[in-house]
Formats: sequence, C-alpha cells, structure tokens
Amino acid sequence: MHRRITGRLVIATHNPGKLAEMRELLAPHGVEAVSAGELGLGEPVETGKTFRANASIKAIAAAKAAQLPAFADDSGLVVDALDGAPGIYSARWAGEGKDFMAAMTRIERLLQERGATTPEKRKAHFVSALCVAWPDGHLEEVEARADGTLVWPPRGTAGFGYDPAFLPDGHTRTFGEMSSIEKHGLPPLGLGLSHRARAFVKLAEICLG
Ligand code: IMP
Repeated sequence: MHRRITGRLVIATHNPGKLAEMRELLAPHGVEAVSAGELGLGEPVETGKTFRANASIKAIAAAKAAQLPAFADDSGLVVDALDGAPGIYSARWAGEGKDFMAAMTRIERLLQERGATTPEKRKAHFVSALCVAWPDGHLEEVEARADGTLVWPPRGTAGFGYDPAFLPDGHTRTFGEMSSIEKHGLPPLGLGLSHRARAFVKLAEICLG
C-alpha cells in the first residue's frame, strides 16, 4: 500500500540547488517543507552502491532524526563513453570545493582521450532516485532519468552541478541555459523534462494529493 504525504516534510538535502528545485516541485502540493539544514540535521555518509540505496540512506537518517517524514534525492550524471562515470560519485568528482567546472573539465578530458568527439559518442543521462521515509520505517521510492548529450564548452549560468554541459535530447539549450521552470518541463510546458521532475511526477502520483 502506498502512503500519502501529509503535514510537514523534511527535505533531506544540504545541496542548495537541489533544495530549491525540490521546494519548487513540492509547492503546488501544499506540503510544508523544512530543510535538513534548517533543522540542524547532519549529513549521513553515502555508503550505497546505487542511487536508490543512497537516497534511502539520506531519507531514513533524516526521518529518524526529525521524527517526521523525510524526502531525499540521490542523483548524478552517467556518461556512456566513461562506462557510467561519474554516476553515484557525481558530487565527489567536484571535490571538497564543489568545483563543477573542474569536474566537467575532467569529464571532457576523458571523453577526448577516448575519441568521443561526435554527439552520438557523447551520450549521457542524469538519474534521480527519490525516497520518502517515515519514522516508522515505511518507504516510498521512485527513479527516473533524463537523456542527453554532453557539450563543450559548458553553456549557461543557471541551475547547478553539471547543468551547463548537459543538452537534453530534443532541445537546443543546455540545462544551464534554462530557467528552473523550463528544466522541470512540467505542465503546461511538458510532462517532465529533468530527471528530478520526472521522478517527482511518479512520486506525486503515489504519495501526493
Ligand atoms: P548527491 O547529493 O550525492 O545526490 O549528488 C548529486 C550530484 O549530481 C550533484 O552534486 C550534482 O553534481 C549532480 N547532479 C544531480 N542532479 C543534477 C542536476 O539536475 N543538474 C546538474 N547536476 C546534477
């Protein structure tokens, strides 16, 4: 049985880019969202081997600590020509200083080394695994992806992380050149463009009014 989200919900992230998007996605559903940072919650170590496992680690830790339902996203960029890297290590590739220009440059160097110079050799996708955990241990989990191509040099200053290097299929502008509303691509603009918005649509179907 799926469980509906009612009342207050903790957004279990310390990533400001993700927090802003998750708040925007939740806003139309009348959920009162508080962030892990606002509650002074710590960040658990992400020891999982999959996006799904790491999302549940974050959601479960926050639900237990806050005694409220908690919502977490684990996401990342999967590059075909790099055998799926950086994948679940997407945040770690940016290092302590969260330098995503350095991370994008590293990806580009590896793509060049592998001769990935044409768009069809530069396919990548973002994945978002969402988990809502309740203090009694109940979990709701969904996952979605957004397919695209990596461009060089990166374009645009909107968004966060790898957004400026990612050109979603069927579009001429990178996520870094889109407003967050366009990046979500939700009605009336579409049925979900970004991995996070697509996963959110699935979650809303089962957990939100
Ligand atoms: P996490 O906090 O361990 O899930 O880290 C996910 C990392 O993947 C983020 O820090 C970003 O680098 C990257 N990432 C995830 N979603 C997006 C997105 O929508 N745009 C750009 N980068 C993203």
